[in-house]
Amino acid sequence: MVMAKYYWDENTLRAEAQRLLKLMERESDPKERRHLAEYYDALNSTIYDYFIMPTVNTPLSTRIHNMYSTFISTQRYYMLLDSFIDPMEKHLKLYSETCDNKELLEERIAKVSGVHVSREKAVSISYSFYRDLDDELFKYFKPLFNKRYSHIHFTDKAKESGTNITKGQSYYLLGLDTSYVEVVGSENPDMALTLIHECGHVIDDSYNPESNLVEDNFYEVVSLFMELVANYQEIGKFGTLYHHSNIVDRLSSIYSDANDCVNYDMLMGHYKNNGYRINKDFYRRAKVEDGFTKGEIIETLCEDTPSNIVYPISMSLALYFFSIYKRDNRLGLMTLKDFMSTTDRDSYIPLLKDDNFLDVVSKEIELLLLSSNETFKQELEVGRRL
Ligand SMILES: [Zn+2]
Repeated sequence: MVMAKYYWDENTLRAEAQRLLKLMERESDPKERRHLAEYYDALNSTIYDYFIMPTVNTPLSTRIHNMYSTFISTQRYYMLLDSFIDPMEKHLKLYSETCDNKELLEERIAKVSGVHVSREKAVSISYSFYRDLDDELFKYFKPLFNKRYSHIHFTDKAKESGTNITKGQSYYLLGLDTSYVEVVGSENPDMALTLIHECGHVIDDSYNPESNLVEDNFYEVVSLFMELVANYQEIGKFGTLYHHSNIVDRLSSIYSDANDCVNYDMLMGHYKNNGYRINKDFYRRAKVEDGFTKGEIIETLCEDTPSNIVYPISMSLALYFFSIYKRDNRLGLMTLKDFMSTTDRDSYIPLLKDDNFLDVVSKEIELLLLSSNETFKQELEVGRRL
């Protein structure tokens, strides 16, 4: 996601692009050459997306027109939003209870926790996590680990662009079979979880490189699955507080993404019904039918909403795989690998509409919230005594 700019990696990626270009020039097999050219293009568009794409003040009408084209090409995913929203709303009361607990606790615990994780420790936590998780997946983690001093980068220097900030990024470079990960953070234990998340992308991308060329909205499934498993195992054991609160933060930010997407979906509907025009009628329609104020509309349309849909969709599928994993580790990982090796990930769309699927996701969300609440209550007790 293009949300924050970092300082270290633009030159690295440009150098890698040059390396691809040289490989291409040397390649005599036309078919291989075509592949390399495709990878070269993919890498260049990554560079463009991350470092060049202007955050311009495009006129609202142009912006909406562009958004609408994106919307049309991704509309099939918007119909799946309920797979995350419904289960969340079912537990809304529990969810707000958890958030209350969390805030109360954070006030108390801020002073007493003192938990730090060094960068080396974060790397070694990720290493043990993947080593113990699965032999095959570990093989895809190893190359990055072996190059950890040059290919895993930690920074505190994230430059904010807009209101959002990413915690990490990863690139897998097709054709060069190499990857880079960057993690933003200080010594917060979250850093280890972010690294596990980013390594999930690297494993996913290198496991099935071709899937990397296809844009889909299941891109976060593997990484979110890894987060859920890590949270479940309480890796590192540096204060359960951080894990539980991290997973609640995750659910909370994804829930707000999902709601943004619903608004966006409705606004695109009004735009279409208004003959693709932004005028008084458009604002009136949106106000009368869905209660949007003009300010809210402009705010929604100025957000980077189309990309946010990836999280609600991916999280619901990750929760589903996670539920299988908890019953049977081996089967859960097999199911995940089946997913990873599928190039046509859209074949999972029907599953997300299934009633049983919604029940399973709902159960998982409930369990996460209940267990977080339980931990928060216990730790609040401890905090009170301190
Ligand atoms: Zn991610």
